[in-house]
Amino acid sequence: MKVGIIGAGGVGAASLVSLVARGTTACQVIVLDKNQALAKGIVADLQYGATLSPSVQLRAGDYADLEGATLVIITAGVNEKTGGATNRADPAGRLRLLETNAGIYREIVPRVVAVAPEALLLVATDPPDPLADLTRQLAGHPHVLSSGTFLDSQRFRLHVARHLNVNPKQVEAQVVGEHGTSQVFLWSSARVAGTPVAALLEQSGQKGQSVEEFRKEVEQDVRYANITIIEGTGASRLGIGMVTARITEAILRDEQAVVPIGSYNAKYGVTLSLPSVLGRRGVSRVFEPEMSEGERAALERSASVLRSAVEKMGKA
Ligand code: NAD
Repeated sequence: MKVGIIGAGGVGAASLVSLVARGTTACQVIVLDKNQALAKGIVADLQYGATLSPSVQLRAGDYADLEGATLVIITAGVNEKTGGATNRADPAGRLRLLETNAGIYREIVPRVVAVAPEALLLVATDPPDPLADLTRQLAGHPHVLSSGTFLDSQRFRLHVARHLNVNPKQVEAQVVGEHGTSQVFLWSSARVAGTPVAALLEQSGQKGQSVEEFRKEVEQDVRYANITIIEGTGASRLGIGMVTARITEAILRDEQAVVPIGSYNAKYGVTLSLPSVLGRRGVSRVFEPEMSEGERAALERSASVLRSAVEKMGKA
């Protein structure tokens, strides 16, 4: 099976390393960047170590090499630091990058579809949800995913798990809606082994904090995790690299994994994230978990933020 990665910057390289390190599915990966020397350099560097993980074969290439690809991951575009989207007080957040990155997608997507019309397209560039809507339109087919709130949900699960001192794999908790500032934390359906997280928080003792204060702190940490990372390293890339590799694995193995990922949702008229069944042809079903009234209203609001962004992009 063939996978393409477009954009060999921080996120593209991290996705590639994670895919090689997971090594669970045999595939050939084509790496492409407008800076061809960069794509060649990344592959030249990693290919030697990749021999320790023999199922993934790497090649720097051009669009023609994407022919027959099962999946093309797009990470090309400006990031938050370059695009000036690092102010926690700015409600637009990653949406500030939309206009610039939409221009880049208008150049990339038709070239991908011309050689790989059957490929599933995974958008990781920010803001991934409106860019996925643009990609559907440019591709002329619906097989488009946004990495969405998968990473946010992992962050949510880790914070809750640490607080409760349990393994994060056993925390079932979702962030839904936009991968951005309007994202929604589904506390009401969060569970550990069927036990409501709300009850566990009440029991656990809050180390001088009320449950409400703890929730606010977690939401703040997750919502702006990208900015905290940027303050330390200049760009968020390693976590999303692990996530794109896991998404790739679920697609190539046709797993029917249930993960919070973005796809076009006719009910909301836009691409947003909800728990979804993911396999070789992308998302086949979307679930709507139980939500409190407040969570439902917040999801509607998040959808409306995304619809406005898509509308504005259409007029740009
Ligand atoms: P980067 O600047 O390190 O890399 C971007 C790469 O895109 C560069 O190598 C550049 O040459 C390439 N590129 C630009 N235009 C291109 C074109 N027309 N064709 C081919 N390649 C092109 O940036 P990064 O840190 O890797 O971030 C990439 C994107 O991923 C950003 O939008 C960032 O905000 C986003 N991101 C998303 C998530 C997520 O959760 N979805 C997480 C972190 C970062």
